[in-house]
Amino acid sequence: MFLGHFGIGFGAKAAAPRVSLGSLFLAAQFVDLLWPTLLMLGMERVRILSGPVQGPPLEFVHYPISHSLLMVLVWAVLFAGIYYALRRSRGGAWVLGALVLSHWLLDLIVHYPDLPLYPGSVQRLGFALWSYPMTDLVLELVIFAVGVLLYLRSTRAGDALGKWALWSLIVFLVFIQIANTFGAPPPSITALAWVGQAQWLLVIWGYWVDRHRRPAAAAQ
Ligand SMILES: [Zn+2]
Repeated sequence: MFLGHFGIGFGAKAAAPRVSLGSLFLAAQFVDLLWPTLLMLGMERVRILSGPVQGPPLEFVHYPISHSLLMVLVWAVLFAGIYYALRRSRGGAWVLGALVLSHWLLDLIVHYPDLPLYPGSVQRLGFALWSYPMTDLVLELVIFAVGVLLYLRSTRAGDALGKWALWSLIVFLVFIQIANTFGAPPPSITALAWVGQAQWLLVIWGYWVDRHRRPAAAAQ
């Protein structure tokens, strides 16, 4: 899942209007932002599948630190705790912690049974919606559209950039999702990890957009 995570990040603005979109993205995608670094360090492993496969051509062999339920809960608590320590916002901390956890729950719907409950657990979960790529794409687009609508209702552009930076981001995210669904498999694990690292730019883009938008109530 890609677009769905960003949709949840956008939509969370309605629940936490004072939290920047960049922070909401960072929380919703936190474990996928961690994952490429763990891949590069050799602490987690993925296999690129050749031949026709339904869904992403990847087998998530071993990713207990980024994607086991227990560790995602730990990341959620840490994320919320650090945000609270920095910003003293209980509401914001709750929303961000819930976003970190939401990543695992959304992944659970689409992944093949590869999500561990805790590091070392034999049982792995996943409802495998990836077997139906078109259904998966529609689901992600719907989550994304609802999230973007909530964000649009919660904020107003403070200037022209507040409009264009947002709309270009929306188009770019949809484009990446389409490329993921229909594109060729990554040429190597290294390339895959670098594409994963590039997602940090989307977080920065989120902060940039949010700086040029205002809470909807204040603009009226
Ligand atoms: Zn994930």
